[in-house]
Amino acid sequence: MATMKRKKAPAKTSRYTELRHMLEDRRRELMSDVQGRIRDVRSEGDREVLDQGESSEVDIQEDIEFALIQMKSETLNKINEALGRLEAGTYGNCFGCGEEIAEPRLRALPFAVRCKDCEEARETAELRARETAQRRGSSALFLDMSS
Ligand SMILES: [Zn+2]
Repeated sequence: MATMKRKKAPAKTSRYTELRHMLEDRRRELMSDVQGRIRDVRSEGDREVLDQGESSEVDIQEDIEFALIQMKSETLNKINEALGRLEAGTYGNCFGCGEEIAEPRLRALPFAVRCKDCEEARETAELRARETAQRRGSSALFLDMSS
C-alpha cells in the first residue's frame, strides 16, 4: 500500500476548509462574471456596422467593460494568491500579532492582513502621528512668529 505522503500538507482544520470554500466561491463568481463580460464585449463587436457617433459610444462602453474586466482579473489573482497562502498555512494570520484573523472579518475583507485590533491600533497610531506632525507644524509657526 502506498503511503499518502504529501508535501507537508497543513492540518485540514474546519477553519481551513471554511476559508477555502469562501475563497473558492469568490473565485468561481468572479470567473463567471469575467467570462460573461468578455462574451458580451465580443458579441457586441459582432454587431452590424454603426455610424461614427454610435461606434465611439460603443468604444467608451467597451473601455469601461475592459477596465472592469481588468479590475476583476486582478482580484482573481489576489484570490489565487490567498489560496496559495492558505495552502502554505500563512493565510488569515495577522501581520501584527500573528494571531488568526477572525473568520467573519476575512469573509468581509478576504485580503485583510491584520486582525481588527492591530488594524485599529495601526490606524490610531497613524492618526496620532498625523496630529503630532500637525501640532509640531503649528508650534513651529508659533515659534517663528514669536522670534
Ligand atoms: Zn493582530
